[in-house]
Amino acid sequence: MPKTGEILKKYRSKRNFDVTSEPSGGGPKRKSSKTALAYVIQKHQASQLHYDFRLEWNGVLLSWAIPKGPSLDPSVKRLAAAVEDHPIEYGSFEGVIPEGEYGGGTVMLWDQGTWTPEDPDVDAALRNGELKFTLNGKKLKGSWVLVRTKGGFGGSSKPQWLLIKHRDRYASTEDILAAEPRSVSSNRLMANIARDSSGDVAKAAKADPPSSSRSRAS
Ligand code: MN
Repeated sequence: MPKTGEILKKYRSKRNFDVTSEPSGGGPKRKSSKTALAYVIQKHQASQLHYDFRLEWNGVLLSWAIPKGPSLDPSVKRLAAAVEDHPIEYGSFEGVIPEGEYGGGTVMLWDQGTWTPEDPDVDAALRNGELKFTLNGKKLKGSWVLVRTKGGFGGSSKPQWLLIKHRDRYASTEDILAAEPRSVSSNRLMANIARDSSGDVAKAAKADPPSSSRSRAS
């Protein structure tokens, strides 16, 4: 596993911090042994809408981009493409990445909380491509698994994983993405976040449920 410094170098090399308000990373480290591990999902309307799923591990946020977002239904498998690790501070970012910059578009803190690995050896679970964990977020809770399907074995393509809900009392057929479209930190919709940060409101609004834009207009 690459060192945190190398990860931040790669993260920073893709961004111009004079232009974007995303954190540059490298702030004070958390004492991971005594502090609960952070979990966050950021809804991100870039060129394509996706949900960035992030789990704190070894001083960084392991990150997957989920085009269709998480599902509470254990019969539904959601594609989760592994993307570069992010600095821990990124987990509190909500706002607008300027158009033309890497990942340009609106970012919402869609869910946040903590996670607990269900296997004691997380690094082995990641290597073996099957990570079981419990989420304690505001929207997502209970037992989940990430299973690697293909890619990422020395080639240039990023590994692809599937995010699947385990059967427990938090499993449901409810469409959580439609039922809970607002930010957990600010209660804003995507269009509100874009408007507040001089972003592309029309583009951001495409990621909000149709009913919410109707209620805004009325
Ligand atoms: Mn993203």
